Amino acid sequence: MPKSITDLETLVSGLDADDRRRFDRLYRFTAGEARILPPKAMEDWIAKAFAYLAPTREQVLSAIRRQKIVHVVNQVTGQGTLFNAVRALRPIEAKSDSDLVKEIEAARGKCAFCRPMELTPENTFGRIGQKTCANVAAYDGWHGLVIFEEHSPLHFRTDAFTVAEVADLLATARTWAEKVYGEDREARYFFLMWNCLWKAAASIIHGHAQMVVAREFPYAKIERLRRDALAYRKAHKSNYFEDLVRVHDTLGLAARWGNVTALAHLTPIKEKELVLVADRFDEADLAAGIHRALKVYAALDVTSYNLAVYMPPLGPTDPAWEGFPVLVHLVDRGSPEAKTVDVGAMELYTSSVVSSDPFALAAALNGNAERDADC
Ligand SMILES: [Zn+2]
Repeated sequence: MPKSITDLETLVSGLDADDRRRFDRLYRFTAGEARILPPKAMEDWIAKAFAYLAPTREQVLSAIRRQKIVHVVNQVTGQGTLFNAVRALRPIEAKSDSDLVKEIEAARGKCAFCRPMELTPENTFGRIGQKTCANVAAYDGWHGLVIFEEHSPLHFRTDAFTVAEVADLLATARTWAEKVYGEDREARYFFLMWNCLWKAAASIIHGHAQMVVAREFPYAKIERLRRDALAYRKAHKSNYFEDLVRVHDTLGLAARWGNVTALAHLTPIKEKELVLVADRFDEADLAAGIHRALKVYAALDVTSYNLAVYMPPLGPTDPAWEGFPVLVHLVDRGSPEAKTVDVGAMELYTSSVVSSDPFALAAALNGNAERDADC
């Protein structure tokens, strides 16, 4: 039987004493159930709508009457996620994305990013290799974009997508950030992101990543994480990020890809969240790790996602950031055809509600590794 988030209690109770102590320092969780009492008139609809849950009508109805809920909280960072096993067991629906492809292709060659030199603004220091531009409506004082050569944001789902393209993106973004820091020594807090398609808040279809650099103090969520990790180190004499990797590893939620570790996050912010951990931004395996993570997403039929890179500040080594690695977060933002957004009051103000199972994601991370190993 494949492992599932509903097995967390069993898995945690099977940890040895050291691993258990480490898990308990980081996480709290509770496994319970939601009891649902559907009226007779609803039963036919339930049996049909949730038929994938079990082979018989009676089994489907009982799975709906008693739904397993797992609530996990990271005590160090305050991140929390509610998993619903009924939702987690939903099969991946293979939908036709022909309308999406049509919409993307209709803009090919006509969009501003297909002609960036004519139709996009530049930063005060110019462009990096004709690949970057300034954001016409900036988020912050320093804001730039890397425009991908390929128009389609679904390029990552094709065999033409290469590690070299990701390496070029990382190098271009870093050169852009160094230019910013060269002009403005207060601008040290570099953040790189890649919003793919409108469900992930991209307003332009053409594939692109974005860079911002905060002045004087870091972006709030990154600073929060730095402080939480520092408090953890003071309290437990242990590096928070190393323990995060270790806990995921002991539960079977990690995959080692060269010098990069991929985690199927135990408190995902939303569906299928992955966290890649590397020592440095210029780590040679980082591009390959991001490429591989996107290939896993493609295999899981993800179309729209956010990618976000946390790292220590630009400039000379800052002791306040000692032990803070490079973290690449990836999160699936759902089908572009869905009318609802994937975050509501729960996500904004309490805990994330997630239907994908991190253990299924971990199997995809490791499954891919095995397939590659066979080649
Ligand atoms: Zn274009």
